[in-house]
Amino acid sequence: MSDVVARLQETRTAIARAARDFGRKPESVTLVAVSKTKPVEMIVPVLGAGQIDFGENYVQEAKEKWPALRERFPQARVHMIGPLQSNKARDAVALFDVIQSLDRESLAKELAREIERAGKAPLLIVQVNTGAEPQKGGVLPGEADAFLELCRSRYGLTIAGLMCIPPADDPPSPHFALLGKIAERNGLKTLSMGMSADYEAAIQLGATHVRVGSAIFGARG
Ligand SMILES: *Cc1c(COP(=O)(O)O)cnc(C)c1O
Repeated sequence: MSDVVARLQETRTAIARAARDFGRKPESVTLVAVSKTKPVEMIVPVLGAGQIDFGENYVQEAKEKWPALRERFPQARVHMIGPLQSNKARDAVALFDVIQSLDRESLAKELAREIERAGKAPLLIVQVNTGAEPQKGGVLPGEADAFLELCRSRYGLTIAGLMCIPPADDPPSPHFALLGKIAERNGLKTLSMGMSADYEAAIQLGATHVRVGSAIFGARG
């Protein structure tokens, strides 16, 4: 068994254990294997081991990797988890099953237009910048409720849930708790939070999706 598949299985086991430890069903947590920057040769064995959900950060890279992979593995679901330019909305709607980085009106508007044109909609998740970091995408926590309402009422978008990336040097749990609160008061069920270093804490605080890259695929160069 390749190293990558061994680490996938270890990650699955750790997710299931964390879920049980915190009184949750293992099936209530979806592992998104973050394959950004990793070549298709590394992704194929992971698909072969039954992994369904994958995360990518760049439209161009996903365009190069996933159409061929999907032919071999039609069950795959690809999540856009990186910053998305509004002028890439058409490609994004065509390429991704889930877009986790919806964070501004201009993008909501373009996605709505392209969803209408394509006649199919990816699952949409709004990114919240829980640490209010200037360099990071996401709506500010205080603006999340209004943005969700705008997506629904002005653009007719169905929003499934929320995503956050806590600041690298903060303890993550308060950020996960904040995301959970915003989701709860907006009636949203999907919570994408937790990465290689902190997915157990995220599961404790209700994550439905954890995005794990380096713990499976190894460090990125
Ligand atoms: C790269 C990335 C991840 C995966 O990070 P790891 O620490 O390698 O698990 C998760 N989420 C987002 C948004 C990312 O950009």
